[in-house]
Amino acid sequence: MGSAPKKLVDVEEALRIVRTHAEASIPPEVEQVPLLDAASRVLAEAVHADRDQPAFDRSTRDGFAVHAVALSGGGSVRVLGQVRAGAVWGAVLPRDAAVEIMTGAPMPDGADAVLMVEHAVLREGLLSMAAGRSLSAGENVVARASEARGGEEVLGIGTLLGAAEIALAASCGCAQLRVFGRPNVAIVATGDELVELHDNLGPQQIRNSNSYAIAAMVASAGGSPMRLAIAHDAKQEIRERIVEGRTAALLVLSGGVSMGTYDLVEEVLEEFGAEFFFTGVKMQPGKPLVFGRLPASETHAEQYFFGLPGNPISTQVTFLCFAAPFLRALTGATNAAPRWAQATLAEDLAAKVGVTRLMPCSLSGVLAHPVRSQSSGDLRANARANCYAELLPGRTYSSGTLVRVLLTDRT
Ligand code: AMP
Ligand code: MG
Repeated sequence: MGSAPKKLVDVEEALRIVRTHAEASIPPEVEQVPLLDAASRVLAEAVHADRDQPAFDRSTRDGFAVHAVALSGGGSVRVLGQVRAGAVWGAVLPRDAAVEIMTGAPMPDGADAVLMVEHAVLREGLLSMAAGRSLSAGENVVARASEARGGEEVLGIGTLLGAAEIALAASCGCAQLRVFGRPNVAIVATGDELVELHDNLGPQQIRNSNSYAIAAMVASAGGSPMRLAIAHDAKQEIRERIVEGRTAALLVLSGGVSMGTYDLVEEVLEEFGAEFFFTGVKMQPGKPLVFGRLPASETHAEQYFFGLPGNPISTQVTFLCFAAPFLRALTGATNAAPRWAQATLAEDLAAKVGVTRLMPCSLSGVLAHPVRSQSSGDLRANARANCYAELLPGRTYSSGTLVRVLLTDRT
């Protein structure tokens, strides 16, 4: 083991430490991309409305544009014609008249409300309101500029772009967007027992699944994964991989951070002058998690690293809880918190003393069902889970209790 003092923290403290460093991170370089390529990227330049939104008083219903007051008290008005979406009614609407209007069409000048077609009675070209209905000025109309004024910022720097944001940018006429580049993440799996997918596998060996899990989670969190070759539990191989991964924005290692004789990762990181912010978290799975920073050298900038425990479930849970939000911050996103939600436990459960348990569960609606597993490294059971319920140290939970759940990239 390394000589650096062990620093075991609880989950909240670890989250705080990671957040503090994430907030100080510098966003990557900016690039301009076609609008669709910006999906799941982070905005580097604010988007402004290029005109009022909506640009005209717009009907939100199929119906009749009227002066609302003209229909109150049983009044009726003459229907002059029709205005469709994309068309314009070219004249001012007299008080005793109506124009049939479609959803999305601009209101004729003078009209102040739309009587929805379901509430309309038409007799010989005369329109009145169905019994028991009322209509007031402004009803079924969205006023010009009520969503955004021309020139107003509608999407800020640091916004993660999903379908909703892409739609908004499209509505503002942005065919291209300036987004932050994807930070490179170097991924190193360590372990003498590991074999790559294309290599022959002895019965005592296991396939390196962690590199793939991490690469998939890196991509989901907006990074660009660089999977390096397996490092066996030998200092020289670990050194070589760290040097290879040194150009990335973030280094993620798996395995080799526990207490065993061949757990060498911390020791090698120390040789590089690493500063350790914590070397363990009071959680299960995931206790041996390491977070730190390599100092800047003549050839490289400083570099943050996570040493994730090798157990495949621990790897995934610790990445989702700590590394994913950290990486999100490195992408320039302003909202980079872990993805927690609230759910109701479907069974009685107990936490352990002294550690926060993150229990693999499958969410159906708001109910979290614990997933049965054969061992702490049961990948098959884990693939049936789509969240991890947080059970606080020493507490027992009866079914029906509301708990925090950590969402995966599938929820
Ligand atoms: P370690 O953290 O190195 O002690 O590994 C803990 C457990 O996780 C051991 O059972 C390892 O075989 C397993 N493990 C470590 N690395 C990987 C990996 N890259 N892929 C799959 N399983 C792994
Ligand atoms: Mg190992």
